[in-house]
Amino acid sequence: MFKNFIKVSFVFFVIIIFVVAVFRTIENYAFFAKADTGLLEVDFIDVGQGDASLIRTPDKQEILIDGGESEKILEELSKIISPFDKYIDLLILTHPHSDHVGGLNFILDEYEVGQVLYTGAIHNSPEYISFLEKIKEKEIVLEIVDHPQKIILGDDLFLEIVYPFSKENIDSSNLNNTSIVAKLAYKDTTFLFTGDIEEEIEEAILENYSNLDVDVLKVPHHGSDTSNTVEFLDAVQADYAVISVGANNYFGHPKNIVISRLERGNVETFRTDLQGTISFSSNGENISVVTEK
Ligand SMILES: [Zn+2]
Ligand SMILES: [Zn+2]
Repeated sequence: MFKNFIKVSFVFFVIIIFVVAVFRTIENYAFFAKADTGLLEVDFIDVGQGDASLIRTPDKQEILIDGGESEKILEELSKIISPFDKYIDLLILTHPHSDHVGGLNFILDEYEVGQVLYTGAIHNSPEYISFLEKIKEKEIVLEIVDHPQKIILGDDLFLEIVYPFSKENIDSSNLNNTSIVAKLAYKDTTFLFTGDIEEEIEEAILENYSNLDVDVLKVPHHGSDTSNTVEFLDAVQADYAVISVGANNYFGHPKNIVISRLERGNVETFRTDLQGTISFSSNGENISVVTEK
């Protein structure tokens, strides 16, 4: 009798393993797989006041830079990626302000995350503490960003850390100025993610990088006039700019002077408060853009 029970249990166990294996194979390779279009896709997600940018590589890796303030990120992500896709390869937190880290707490609850990259900045807000605790609890690899550092994402496709210049001695007295700045390059096309850096850091970056010319700029600090100097915008020479900002926000972002600087530089500018999520795709040579509204 007991022998039979073991036998039955074993058969049952084997069946379960088989079903799981088949299902995983199907999930990965057949029903739910998106075709490899050779396109790099970058969405600047409308999370209200805050920043959240999703990078999807041609071979389907997903990198999320910041997550806005609230659980709105979940609703917005579900419009972009399949509901069966609950894995994000890499999360990057530019800096610990709540309009960047808040939503990542909801991401950590709902998604499996491969790795997290951040600066190690010190801050004791409940959102940031909860973010670090969840990463520890789930045993996710947490790394402090290095410089120089290039994250290879595919053929002729990489994310280069532009700032901070060193992983040591991060000065957390102005968190905006701890923001990770990263350049994404896919063949001839480039994107610059800037977090909330202010003018001192813009200037420091220009001193370190003589050629910062990019195609798409995520405008620093929601279009604040404490960032976005004429010198920085001139050096970046973006064709497209994205201002990630909430409607009627308390800070009065974006500032008119920044909008006119972009206009003067003939930069085609998009705003998440007016146009919703802004979606770019690149085949490595050309960039196209569509807006949600
Ligand atoms: Zn911010
Ligand atoms: Zn900030």
